[in-house]
Amino acid sequence: MSDPALTTRHRNRIADLHGDITAWRRDLHMHPEIGFEETRTAAIVAEKLKAFGLDQIITGMATTGVVGIIKGSQPGPMIGLRADMDALPMQEHGDVEWKSLNPGKMHACGHDGHTAMLLGTAQILAETRDFAGSVAVIFQPAEEGGGGGGVMVREGLFNQADCQSVWGLHNMPTIPYGQFFALTGPIMAGIDYFDITIRGQGTHAGTPHLGADTVLAAAHLVTAIQSVPGRTVSPHETATIGVSMFKGSEAYVVMPDEATIGGSVRYFDMATRDAAEARIRLLANGIAAGFDAEAVVDYRKNYPPTINHAAETDMAAEVAGALVGADMVEREAEPSMAGEDFSFMLNERPGNYIWMGTGQPGRNNAMVHAPDYDFNDNAIPLGVGYWLGLVDRLLPTT
Ligand SMILES: [Zn+2]
Ligand SMILES: [Zn+2]
Repeated sequence: MSDPALTTRHRNRIADLHGDITAWRRDLHMHPEIGFEETRTAAIVAEKLKAFGLDQIITGMATTGVVGIIKGSQPGPMIGLRADMDALPMQEHGDVEWKSLNPGKMHACGHDGHTAMLLGTAQILAETRDFAGSVAVIFQPAEEGGGGGGVMVREGLFNQADCQSVWGLHNMPTIPYGQFFALTGPIMAGIDYFDITIRGQGTHAGTPHLGADTVLAAAHLVTAIQSVPGRTVSPHETATIGVSMFKGSEAYVVMPDEATIGGSVRYFDMATRDAAEARIRLLANGIAAGFDAEAVVDYRKNYPPTINHAAETDMAAEVAGALVGADMVEREAEPSMAGEDFSFMLNERPGNYIWMGTGQPGRNNAMVHAPDYDFNDNAIPLGVGYWLGLVDRLLPTT
């Protein structure tokens, strides 16, 4: 596919910086750091923001988070642009020259690209200052399970950077390069985790009548839990529950006094979450009691669903449309059942989380989290162009 007609007034400056941003991205890719351990990454981010001449740089938020503030040439409100910095705990199996040097750690979700693109954006904004208000560039740790975005919010992100709106972007290899997906409402699911322990009298496998069969009780519970999406949740709502862990005895002949199961619950609506949790607890307690055992339920609320605000999503679609053509912006598509901790920021401030297509014929388009995934550097001008377009539209000078 040829390049989309990238229509932005920053086109030439973005082209100048494309090589630098690519080099930063590949350096980050070679040195991946997992959640809350992004010390090298955060140091590079802070050092570059300082070199670009930002007005304020806050470090150490949520351990390794960095926030930079850039003031425009005229007064006005503040907006927040957010990138994530963490890698995944997995081994890279690709063969790129900039392959991970850290065994068991890999930038398999493109957060190296997100970080580099937001750095390039900050550099151009600090050079031009051609906007009315301020831009907070938010580099968060631990998106992949640690909830670094939520920790930053709890540590006062929006007290220190009082953003009127907040914006996120994620690359997506399954979407063609040159396209954006701007979906109103839910775009990523809420995700909770649970562990349930069934406890009862252990016994010999030859005398099952002398004990409570905790494994059999847990097996009934695994089946019963699958009734929750279909019988507790309305057919008009979405929920999926995966019981992915099961542990009983270590021996063929021991009926254990404890069996445990664990899994995840995914949903788009908080009432659905509450109903699912309540039903899982009821089933666990009821089934355990029926087997003369007891259940201990550890239900952990993790990421809330990522819900895009309507007006901001219209704005995001307009900005992306101005960049690549309105026909290249998808407004209706299925949301993802994966989670995203930008949700914590969207729960505090209106905003949008957009998917940027990076799939291109002739290159490896492995999905994010695949061991041979690599961020598509060709998409850097699209990401930077989108960020700068947002600032132009949201903070116009008079
Ligand atoms: Zn990911
Ligand atoms: Zn990601």
